[in-house]
Amino acid sequence: MFTPQDAEFDRQHIWHPYTSMRDPLPCYPVVAAQGTQLQLADGRELVDGMSSWWAAIHGYNHPRLNRAMQDQMAQMSHVMFGGITHPAAVALCRQLVAMTPAALECVFLADSGSVAVEVAMKMAMQYWLGRGETRQQFLTLARGYHGDTFAAMSVCDPDNSMHSLWRGYLPEHHFAAAPQCRFDDIWDERDTDDFVRLIELHHARLAAVILEPIVQGAGGMRFYHPRYLQRVRECCDRYDVLLIADEIATGFGRSGTLFACEHAEVMPDILCVGKALTGGMMTLAATLATRRVADGISDSPAGCFMHGPTFMGNPLACAVAAESLALLNEDHWPQQVARIERQLREELMPLRAAQQVADVRVLGAIGVVETRRPVNMAALQRFFVERGVWIRPFGRLIYLMPPYIITPQALRQLTEAIAEALTQEAHFSA
Ligand code: PMP
Repeated sequence: MFTPQDAEFDRQHIWHPYTSMRDPLPCYPVVAAQGTQLQLADGRELVDGMSSWWAAIHGYNHPRLNRAMQDQMAQMSHVMFGGITHPAAVALCRQLVAMTPAALECVFLADSGSVAVEVAMKMAMQYWLGRGETRQQFLTLARGYHGDTFAAMSVCDPDNSMHSLWRGYLPEHHFAAAPQCRFDDIWDERDTDDFVRLIELHHARLAAVILEPIVQGAGGMRFYHPRYLQRVRECCDRYDVLLIADEIATGFGRSGTLFACEHAEVMPDILCVGKALTGGMMTLAATLATRRVADGISDSPAGCFMHGPTFMGNPLACAVAAESLALLNEDHWPQQVARIERQLREELMPLRAAQQVADVRVLGAIGVVETRRPVNMAALQRFFVERGVWIRPFGRLIYLMPPYIITPQALRQLTEAIAEALTQEAHFSA
């Protein structure tokens, strides 16, 4: 049940992501979801192309994920994590330690991706305090995105995240030019020139380099060359700077490898995961660190890591995350993601010829159509819903990251809707 009064209340009183309270874009009421289908209040069904922003990799209403939560709920939904532990947290962290590179063995459970990034940055700064140094600057890449809380925002692309709004309040970090060499281009050694220049200049004050490995997500959906990441790791080693990999979007198979760092065979000192961690069932993220980082933090004047939110290690979230990772470890994802990648290439690449299209790129289960002009969000969204698909474009980007379980037929519905959308002038701003 979703009444016109509910819709009106929503318009009047509820903020949605990046949406005006005075003049909100339309919102579509979803009342149920199953597999790769979202059901609207009026009964219409939409094929989901977004996985609820990279999260619902196994699809919606998955019986095993539901059961894991129900079983946990019957035991206890929540208990504080200070001075207490519980089987769900141990089961989850055991899997995380096993799935990630061997040296990442210390896990901090955070409530959301942005908090995991805050935690990673704080870990890096506390590590240096333990080594007797105050280092509070970060080096990152233009066009990056790391979340909406303040420390995370301070390392997001300065233009996209409107640093000008917060000048004087937001700490100012260092931004290397965004990588230009694409994932499957021939590597051009000059691509890291700006990064190398900045790390040479500032390394003595840098707590860490923080970046999204290989896939720059919300800052432009760009896929860069693995050599870039290798050069970053080499520089971090040469200048003794920590490397934080934000795999909140890319973690758990999305880019075609379990973690995007694997494309470059690079290991970070600190790793952030989130989103798909619970299969999109609950908000939960994690920051993993090496023993060296953890030891540095223990040597700091505080003697321990200074963070501990109320809902840390929430048992419901941990239980469903442990089951989601168990599902993932049954290892259907490599075939699923490879099949999605093949189909996205076949069906999206020909759109390069379309007049409105500036570029098409595909990596793993991510397909991106970059348009020449910004999309008219409201018009394009309405068109997609009328075509029975859920695709949420922004700026000049129309992109797909469907649940791994999507069928070829359902994926075709998504790519056909994009192809048709490109033919209508009204879907683009003047
Ligand atoms: N890092 C990356 C790479 C992300 O894509 C996001 C979310 N889009 C975040 C951090 C922030 O995560 P959350 O929205 O859960 O706070």
